[in-house]
Amino acid sequence: MNAQIESFLQAVSAPLEFLAGASPEAAARTKVPVAALIEKAHRLALAQSERLRGELEALERGLRDLDGADATARARVAEHCRAIVARIRTAGEPPAAPYRATRPPLEPLLEFLGQSVQFVKHVGPRRAELLRKSGLLRVEDLLYHLPFRYEDRRQVTEIARLRVGQEATVVGTMAHLAERFAGRSRRRLLEGAVRDSSGLLSLTWYNRVAYFAGRYQVGAQYVITGRVEQGLGRSLRITHPEVEPLGEGEVRGIVPVYGKPTAMTVGAMRAVVQGAVRELAERVPSVLPPEVTEARSLLDLGEALRRVHIPGDDDDIDALQQFASPAHRALVFDELFFLQLGLLLRRRQSAVEEGVALVAGSGPRRLREILPFRLTGAQERVVAEIEADMARSRPMHRLIQGDVGSGKTIVALSAALVAVDNRHQAAFMAPTELLAEQHFRNLAPLASQLGVDLALLTGDTKGPERKAIYAGLADGSLPLVVGTQALIQEKVRFRALGLGVIDEQHRFGVLQRAALRALGSPHILLMTATPIPRTLALTLYADLELSFLDELPPGRTPIRTMLFQDNRRPQVYDLVRREVDQGRQAYVVYPLVEESDDPALRDATTMARELSRSVFANYRAGLIHGRMKADEKDAVMRRFKEGDLQILFSTTVIEVGIDVPNATVIVIEHAERFGLAQLHQLRGRVGRGPHASMCLLVASYARGDEANQRLQAMVDSNDGFEIAEMDLRLRGPGDFLGTRQSGLPDFRVANLVRDGRVLEEARRAAQSWLDRDPDLTAPESVAIRAVLRHRWAGRLELATTG
Ligand code: ADP
Ligand code: MG
Repeated sequence: MNAQIESFLQAVSAPLEFLAGASPEAAARTKVPVAALIEKAHRLALAQSERLRGELEALERGLRDLDGADATARARVAEHCRAIVARIRTAGEPPAAPYRATRPPLEPLLEFLGQSVQFVKHVGPRRAELLRKSGLLRVEDLLYHLPFRYEDRRQVTEIARLRVGQEATVVGTMAHLAERFAGRSRRRLLEGAVRDSSGLLSLTWYNRVAYFAGRYQVGAQYVITGRVEQGLGRSLRITHPEVEPLGEGEVRGIVPVYGKPTAMTVGAMRAVVQGAVRELAERVPSVLPPEVTEARSLLDLGEALRRVHIPGDDDDIDALQQFASPAHRALVFDELFFLQLGLLLRRRQSAVEEGVALVAGSGPRRLREILPFRLTGAQERVVAEIEADMARSRPMHRLIQGDVGSGKTIVALSAALVAVDNRHQAAFMAPTELLAEQHFRNLAPLASQLGVDLALLTGDTKGPERKAIYAGLADGSLPLVVGTQALIQEKVRFRALGLGVIDEQHRFGVLQRAALRALGSPHILLMTATPIPRTLALTLYADLELSFLDELPPGRTPIRTMLFQDNRRPQVYDLVRREVDQGRQAYVVYPLVEESDDPALRDATTMARELSRSVFANYRAGLIHGRMKADEKDAVMRRFKEGDLQILFSTTVIEVGIDVPNATVIVIEHAERFGLAQLHQLRGRVGRGPHASMCLLVASYARGDEANQRLQAMVDSNDGFEIAEMDLRLRGPGDFLGTRQSGLPDFRVANLVRDGRVLEEARRAAQSWLDRDPDLTAPESVAIRAVLRHRWAGRLELATTG
């Protein structure tokens, strides 16, 4: 049902229901806003299909009767109206406007959309440059630059009736306008006041004072919109109001507001975008097939863009604000349909790639025999999932999501042994040298017990050793290698790579995945400790199989996280000393390596020096950071691991993967400066052994709202999935995903948090289209294919077929 009609029906139902059942006396006393309802019915009727128009007109007549009816007749008329309402409700869902599919050829249209914004009216070279800096380069960027909110200027409010906090429009005469220098800093500002017959409203500008001062005139009439604040004394004020001269060109109704370059005014930006939409929205091709659009009453893109950018007075402003209007829904659906179509195609393509079936031999079993612990149920399950994948003759692309400390490394080793069982090789790639070295140190004893050769290859591996490793990989005599991105350097050749493992894959992008595949690895196993909510996983990883390591090894005690203001640091140091005195170890993490321009910021180098002389003078402390040479880092890490160092001052180099089970306390300084995912990773450095652990967050008092929420989330939850959901809410999906890096098209309209349901629907629609036409080669897919190629702009290889 059309949202407008639905909300109208809702509004009209309650009074009708009451009147239909009310006594004549009650009916007589009741005032129903009939005039407004009649008006609404009338306006709605104009926009509908013939059938619905007829019903709405009948309802309009009924309401008029109701208005004129005497008390005794009202119940009967109300009943009659209710019947019409019911008919409209069941009238099926005639689309608000038919979906007009664009006819081929689409290429000229798509090409045009890709042209510079300079092709748009009102955009000259100067504005084009401004827009470009805001990321609006092409015609279609402007068309898809949706308003981030709407102002309701359908109603003008009298100044005397304004309330603080309200978003309001007033009409009045500029009574005063003068520059002033305020405060001790002599800050320049512009003050004004506007008057209507009911009162006076202050206006204040802090930016571009000269510009605004020159733009408005005392005595002239303006339409003024903005959020009402408390001014001095009892006065009310709007800061940086939107001001338009009354009369010509003044903007009323539901008015969209756009993100814009700072140097452009709100009005200019609106004129540019709306001008573009009026003239060019028609050229955005709408190519969804009827079986997709009809069931969902989707609007075509031209219509949807027009409604989003140039709403009518009757539109539902709440739905617009929520991005939930039918027009928004059509845009979101369209975007997600092509996203899913691309991802599903990618997945299909990898499914038909040639692979090598590798069936597990004795390796995994022998590994279990030498491990000092039993695999958890989750580990066993994931190992089985991997083995089932590898045993097939198509390549595995599997992602293991497991919280920090869930034991991913052993699972990967087990998979590597399957390759070795089959006289294939396995490569294990980590994002940092430190982590690669740690993996090497942990895996080497196991590998040697199993009689499997293992080497470490990083950017730091010296000449002769490097040559030997290259040779071993090339002739197949070296079955296992752990390393950094040095593994995917051009010179590295494998005789028969069977499995590529990418640890902490969120630190890489898809490029490394592609590079590893290019090395000739049929099976790929990705691992991440940054879990991803389901909707996101469906999107970002629609081309992967997912495994969840959702169980921590037994005997872990939950980490206690506490938040300290920085003036309570002595207490933090006490807690650290107490742990270390009991034989445990501690990390103290800083955001910076060395002193910076900001004297308020603590850094690892300075603090390590100072604290080793003062509060921690009686302890053995070390320092590690990313600027140290690999062998220096390695030496420090080894001393810490062996317990020789009790306290390790560090930067975030220890963020991922580092595993020292005896470390039970981590102090994170300037915690407000870290993102949630990062804090959770850092926290994961402790709580890895049998001892109870603590994470002590030290934050400076001057932290913002968002930082506060982040820190609170850390205190409240130890669960990686919860943290990830929170992170997603706080940061928004764009930042969270980093679409550029992930190789997905940018999201222009859809928001994966908000639009999870549409995403699933779009996925089903895309899937059933592909079921019918797997390679998009049927004539009905020609247009879809063209748009798909355009949206993914080189990020998707479509099979080339005639
Ligand atoms: P992550 O998933 O964060 O990469 P690791 O693979 O580094 O976790 O494992 C964390 C720690 O847990 C390591 O010390 C590892 O040896 C240990 N571990 C892994 N699996 C088990 C298990 N089933 N039982 C006990 N300890 C385990
Ligand atoms: Mg790990």
